[in-house]
Amino acid sequence: MHSVRRRSALRNDGSITHLHHNIVSDIINILPDNVANQIAAGEVVDRPASAVKELLENAIDAGATSIQLILRDAGRTLIQVIDNGCGMSDSDARLCFERHATSKIHAADDLFAIRTMGFRGEALASIAAVAQVELRTRQLNNELGTCVLIEGCEVKSQEPCSCNAGTSIAVKNLFFNIPARRNFLKKDSVELSHIDDIFRRVAIVNNHVAFTLHHNGKLLYDLRAGNKAQRIAAIFGSGTSERLYPISESTELVSVEGYVGKPEHVRKTRNEQYIFVNNRFIKHLALSTAVEKAYAELIPERTYPSYFLFIQVDPSRIDVNIHPTKTEVRFVDEHALFAILRAATKKAIGQFSLATEIEFNPSTDIDFSPAPSEYTPQEPHITFNPDYNPFHTTSESRSGGALRSSGTSFGSTTGSRMRPSSSWEEAYAAAKSEDLTFGFSDDDADAEEQPAISTPASPLSYKNTYIISTLKSGLLVIHQQRAHERILFEEFMDRRRANADSPVGAQQLLFPVTCTFSPSDGELMNELLGEIRSMGFAIDGVNATTYVVTATPPNVQDGNLQSLFEQLLADYKGAMMQKFGDRDTAICQSMARQMAIKAGTPLQPEEMQSIIGQLFACQVPNLAPNGKKTMIILNELDLEEKFR
Ligand code: ADP
Ligand code: MG
Repeated sequence: MHSVRRRSALRNDGSITHLHHNIVSDIINILPDNVANQIAAGEVVDRPASAVKELLENAIDAGATSIQLILRDAGRTLIQVIDNGCGMSDSDARLCFERHATSKIHAADDLFAIRTMGFRGEALASIAAVAQVELRTRQLNNELGTCVLIEGCEVKSQEPCSCNAGTSIAVKNLFFNIPARRNFLKKDSVELSHIDDIFRRVAIVNNHVAFTLHHNGKLLYDLRAGNKAQRIAAIFGSGTSERLYPISESTELVSVEGYVGKPEHVRKTRNEQYIFVNNRFIKHLALSTAVEKAYAELIPERTYPSYFLFIQVDPSRIDVNIHPTKTEVRFVDEHALFAILRAATKKAIGQFSLATEIEFNPSTDIDFSPAPSEYTPQEPHITFNPDYNPFHTTSESRSGGALRSSGTSFGSTTGSRMRPSSSWEEAYAAAKSEDLTFGFSDDDADAEEQPAISTPASPLSYKNTYIISTLKSGLLVIHQQRAHERILFEEFMDRRRANADSPVGAQQLLFPVTCTFSPSDGELMNELLGEIRSMGFAIDGVNATTYVVTATPPNVQDGNLQSLFEQLLADYKGAMMQKFGDRDTAICQSMARQMAIKAGTPLQPEEMQSIIGQLFACQVPNLAPNGKKTMIILNELDLEEKFR
């Protein structure tokens, strides 16, 4: 141990070390190994949860397919991990407690290709420095295993023993020799919840491994091997699957698989946000932001989407070694990753949001019960038909389940892509010509031979609030105000993106309107002038507090422009206080909300028709900018259900 420490001191600055040795050797002591180990241990093991993490990861690295975690007193008195992995030889069973003892790295180059969890070779040394450890391990080919007792770095005994193939490590009386650390531990409930966090992180990503967790004799988790969806449901409750959409994206740089929460099922906390990179749980602000940005205008403020993302990147493109606990990583291609993740999330939300049922809804034919033990785990796999047109009249789509499972297991599902990039208009045109009828169109084949009794497509209004029409896939009910908000919002956003500084389709006002503001609001108006103009206003400042409007966007109902701008400023200020507020979104959202046709406003049939058409041309047709539904589709099954 001495030589190791000295060498590293020399590497940093050889001359000074040398100097110290000659001059001040009277006051400098080389710390005894056990003290040095205790200090170093603090970096790796600061509470029971961190010991749990290291032991679980070692078991995973050892190739275990079944892992038991047994705790007493939230890990204070006992943390035991039993695995059925590769086990260790007699000599390795003793060596593994040496600092920098690792089987996972042989040369510096290995560092850049690391795919296992541990590689620093300090976990067991650190744990042994601060606890009483009993290791029992046997390799499959050996008849006898070996049992090592070690306490505060000192090997007390090693002898042959009979035990199961694999490894069991029992860590007793953590920090028995460091009262300060022991006293620093929190209440059992707190320590246990830290362990719970760690356990979930490890269990979610290692879905092919069976886990149990016992605390004080009570079984808290019993997780069978299964696919990721099953594992997530087993941990977070069987209803979880209904709250999630699958996400899947693959580029040269990165592949992303997993699940993102439906916008209508946001949480009040970030407890269901998980990102794994190369099977390692990580925290990464930029990547989390990328996902949350995809939800920006879809969910209410101060709510958080759930997500479980499994990202694979070439290990040489990341550096995981920047923090001892390794939940932080640095990416070489962070910007690209950000863009990909955001786009993939948007796509997942947009793609599936129209489907009333998706294939991993357990109420369909998906079995979410624990898999039988001989079950071979299969990654969720979803394929899309990019040409799928939800309004086309094929017999599959008739059953309303464009995204319904075609197989019996989650793993073998084919579905169709709900929303191809730009073809909603087309789709809708098709729908209009052949589908928006109030006839009794039966089977498609029949329909051709014997035209159904149908009136020309003409939507109905209910209470001047809902627009009712039919699609081949069902009965369509649109919330006119929210739909119009969505339409305007996207229109404004598009104009912002196109950075159109000239008003598009502005309508000249007969009489210019003057608006006056407080000095601070006047300044803010000035700041936002470009944005406001690009939305179709012709507006100029007369002085710091007075503005004159000479033209408005075609959509502006001839309401009160003064209050429209005041509300805009208020919304903008409010949004800027939010963490993820983005300027354009805030402004466009406010304008859309204010300008939208209100519920209760009577509409002409052509106006309703135009709302339907424009809505389906939107990127996210089914949700208003605030995340609420703009429409519902009742398919045949839904109706049958109601008439039962
Ligand atoms: P690291 O995981 O960084 O290599 P550790 O101190 O955690 O360092 O473990 C040291 C070594 O002990 C590992 O490299 C591995 O060879 C061996 N080891 C630890 N735990 C197990 C286990 N559960 N099964 C088999 N081998 C293990
Ligand atoms: Mg390890």
